[in-house]
Amino acid sequence: MGSVGDRGRDASEKVAATYSTLGTDVNFGAITGALIKSLQKTGKAALHLHHEVKKLKQQKDNRWLIKVKDLSSGKKYSVLAKFVFIGAGGGSLELLQKSDIPEGKRYGGFPVGGQWLVCKNPAISAKHSAKVYGQAEVGAPPMSVPHLDARIINGEKAILFGPFATFSTKFLKEGSYWDLFGTVKYWNIFPLIKVGIKNIDLEKYLIRQLSLSFEDRMNVLKQFYPEAQAADWKLQEAGQRVQVIQNDPENGPTLQFGTEIVTSADGTISALLGASPGASTAVSIMLRLLYQCFPDRAGANIDRLKTMIPSYGQQLEDNPELLAQVRARTSRILELSA
Ligand SMILES: Cc1cc2nc3c(=O)[nH]c(=O)nc-3n(C[C@H](O)[C@H](O)[C@H](O)COP(=O)(O)OP(=O)(O)OC[C@H]3O[C@@H](n4cnc5c(N)ncnc54)[C@H](O)[C@@H]3O)c2cc1C
Repeated sequence: MGSVGDRGRDASEKVAATYSTLGTDVNFGAITGALIKSLQKTGKAALHLHHEVKKLKQQKDNRWLIKVKDLSSGKKYSVLAKFVFIGAGGGSLELLQKSDIPEGKRYGGFPVGGQWLVCKNPAISAKHSAKVYGQAEVGAPPMSVPHLDARIINGEKAILFGPFATFSTKFLKEGSYWDLFGTVKYWNIFPLIKVGIKNIDLEKYLIRQLSLSFEDRMNVLKQFYPEAQAADWKLQEAGQRVQVIQNDPENGPTLQFGTEIVTSADGTISALLGASPGASTAVSIMLRLLYQCFPDRAGANIDRLKTMIPSYGQQLEDNPELLAQVRARTSRILELSA
């Protein structure tokens, strides 16, 4: 038995880790706000908040008639669009089903929520300025890898630990308990049941996670931070993710942990489904969407895309020099010290 080293950890304990000094928190909400503002300045784009899309139906001329409700005034109205992109997080599956396109009939959804242990004690958060990842439990979805994460939220530094999985039939954090049942249709009920039978490990994992007490969660945290004190930490809801259940023609019904773009054959409507539809995956998703729905415009604007993304179209893993250039450029723009 070795001596107890710094910060409550046995100094003789063997630890393996990869370490990178590069990295930063990214506030995707702030980026979205800035991009929307610049679009509004062109006078060609308008933003309507607190509006709900109720129905959408394709017209004979291929355009989409979208029925919208202004949730502030209760007023309902319609909009005609040549192209529709459904990026409504957990609300996307329901809207895709309402569009009635045949491509949407291969999908169902399974909600998995997340909770964090959050510490806002400045004396503790000042000691931790990294993102430390561990390993996921057997049966756990890939995005459940536990991590101890320094975050600056609206200027306030905090440490988050988790996520701990939760289960609720809601598809959005502020959704309804009927969300899951509303998306069960005659064409996806059997695939949903089959996926339930095939994924016993995931269900066991969810049951184990749901039965954790606050003390159990603190014990998981102590594997990362042995000196953690319960009084400094609070459990908070992180959000909901809707995992895609796809009725694959070759492999049958499967539960997927990735993100899926579903596009109609005529390319007039696209929906984004899955675990991580926004944030860090947003750029690669939008590039795929551009090629699927507007191949001519994407081809004609290839030089602009390369100016925006210098590594565009090249494999970074085969090209260490390019990787170094991309990292140096990113660090310079984000003012990170490499
Ligand atoms: C615990 C947890 C940790 C995560 N960590 C990371 C991370 O470290 N990095 C990362 O990149 N991503 C992470 N993610 C994923 C990331 O949070 C999501 O991918 C992202 O927030 C999704 O953004 P979104 O705008 O597509 O959907 P959402 O944020 O879900 O927003 C959807 C919006 O659509 C609206 N809506 C729904 N239905 C309708 C309708 N009918 N009409 C009008 N509006 C509608 C909703 O009200 C909501 O405002 C995490 C997620 C969770 C749960």
